[in-house]
Amino acid sequence: MTVSNPNLKPQHVAMDQFPVQDGELLVGGQRLSALAARVGSTPFFAYDRSLLRRRAAELKAAMPAGVKLHYAMKANPMPALVQTMVGLVDGIDVASAGELKVALDAGADPAEVSFAGPGKRDTELRQAVAAGVLVNVESLRELPVLAEASQALGLPARVAVRVNPDFELKGSGMKMGGGAKQFGVDVDVVPGLLAQVASLGLAFEGFHLFAGSQNLRADSICEAQQKSYALALQLAESAPGPVKFLNLGGGFGIPYFPGEQRLDLAPISANLHAIAERARAEMPAASLVIELGRYLVGEAGIYVTRIVDRKVSRGQVFLIGDGGLHHQLAASGNFGQVVRKNYPVAISKADAGTARESASLVGPLCTPLDLLADRMELAVADVGDLAVVFQSGAYGPSASPSAFLGHPAAVEVLV
Ligand SMILES: *Cc1c(COP(=O)(O)O)cnc(C)c1O
Repeated sequence: MTVSNPNLKPQHVAMDQFPVQDGELLVGGQRLSALAARVGSTPFFAYDRSLLRRRAAELKAAMPAGVKLHYAMKANPMPALVQTMVGLVDGIDVASAGELKVALDAGADPAEVSFAGPGKRDTELRQAVAAGVLVNVESLRELPVLAEASQALGLPARVAVRVNPDFELKGSGMKMGGGAKQFGVDVDVVPGLLAQVASLGLAFEGFHLFAGSQNLRADSICEAQQKSYALALQLAESAPGPVKFLNLGGGFGIPYFPGEQRLDLAPISANLHAIAERARAEMPAASLVIELGRYLVGEAGIYVTRIVDRKVSRGQVFLIGDGGLHHQLAASGNFGQVVRKNYPVAISKADAGTARESASLVGPLCTPLDLLADRMELAVADVGDLAVVFQSGAYGPSASPSAFLGHPAAVEVLV
């Protein structure tokens, strides 16, 4: 047996967004056991409205007036949650006609909806023009389709150009710019594309730059924002009209793994104030936009499973829950991670006492990949207790293989 000082191991940042009362988590002010009874079955995802509000309010307070906050709804497309977000942010970013429908149903103002994504089908582009939303063009192929839809509908297609920047967001969990990418249009192709936008009579509105995702380094985010702004300013010289819309991307991350800290908004706020100041002089018609997914919703959600079995195999404790990777793929380590690490996990039980043990939380699927916590220090738990996976408000059910092994879909509640 190895002896190690737990104080020397990197720890998860405290999940103190959810208060704990007598060993139980409070979600939306409600004890988790009562919420589970209200939901009626496990596993489920619960999203806390007050945390959504708090996060949006913190961001708005940090950002200069005039910088718009958009919600990238692919992070969590639950209709009730999107409806809540519509009331909290300035606009919604969609990535398919399916998401467009949810956003419009939720009451989003089409003037403040933008549609990005590679491989937009002709029908999706026509739907976007009919809805009057902004299309972030990612390919020359989209232009004639948009022009035809404009003609047929008598509505000018509103377009921005999504640029594949010649830099990347350093230290990102997922890079979506720099080098060869299926996203956006390479910088050197943009001037030619802008000429076509003009000749086809499309309504040019601006640029969209998105360099990466899940970043916890404020300096990297600031650098990418500065480079994005400078690139847009340069490309604006070839634009057929004034830039009205400049989406500087997002990439704000949340802490998932031991040793990670929450992002420091202060330097990002200062940087955005400086960019906004410059833009007032250099691009006076432009609204600056920041688009965020997980940062807005990720920390507000938990995934709750009930332990159905407890086994000990060769000295190792396995808590077998009723939920797993088929609902929360990312927490199992199979959603783009290179090295598997544990999400923050806890046992929520009344009068848990102080006894703790090393245990692994697994799911019911017949695959060793169905692992939600690998030998974590947890409160001693037994059959019937609830296990919670934090940081589950983004990329949960909609990003997981729910049909795998034929278990029921996860219930989602907003409380
Ligand atoms: C995925 C995506 C986002 C959201 O990313 P998060 O990491 O959830 O903030 C925003 N914009 C674009 C273009 C995306 O593809």
